[in-house]
Amino acid sequence: MHNLKIDKIFKKLSNDISQPKTELKYKNPYTFLVSVILSAQSTDKSVNLATFDLFRKVKTPEAMINLGEKKLKSHIKTIGLFNNKSKNIISLSKILVDKYNSKIPSAFNQLISLPGVGNKTASVFQNEILNIPRVAVDTHVYRVSNRIGLVKTNNPDDTQSKLESIIPKKWLKSAHHLLILHGRKTCKAIKPKCDNCSLIKLCEYKSKKINYENK
Ligand code: SF4
Repeated sequence: MHNLKIDKIFKKLSNDISQPKTELKYKNPYTFLVSVILSAQSTDKSVNLATFDLFRKVKTPEAMINLGEKKLKSHIKTIGLFNNKSKNIISLSKILVDKYNSKIPSAFNQLISLPGVGNKTASVFQNEILNIPRVAVDTHVYRVSNRIGLVKTNNPDDTQSKLESIIPKKWLKSAHHLLILHGRKTCKAIKPKCDNCSLIKLCEYKSKKINYENK
């Protein structure tokens, strides 16, 4: 896709979405990382509900270790995969204390070596907290970017590297949120609201659909 067209797409998305930022509520880099881990296969809303009380008591890895796995589970039991997530968060907190002086490392390889932190979580963290522009790919970003025709990919890792190479620098930091929020509100998985979408003239999915329907 031509650079000019990509720029137009992100201009329109940024007009539609005035605040392209995370919907997760957090207190500091540590609580943000915990929230992102909790958000895997769960909604931001359910994570915010569970962490509302948790983050009043726990804001550091030390406090999380003191809270312990059992009590952590009781805070997050409404969230999917909470058993596994509790284990990972306690192990991660111990590693942060023992190895990183209770700070979160900034290097991507160090981030993904932490329990419960995969490529997507590490990229989200780098983008939000460290201001390193990364386009983390979740189900919305993958679907929307392929539908629009920004990329033609078969897996999240390829999608991320392709998006990071084609999106103009000025949109890189906000691209992840713009694509997610567009996917949640308009370009929905089952019934995309194409008739109400500002990208209708730019989107390849729609033009393919029209061509197909006209045959
Ligand atoms: S035109 Fe339809 S498929 Fe394309 S981005 Fe908009 S909602 Fe999604």
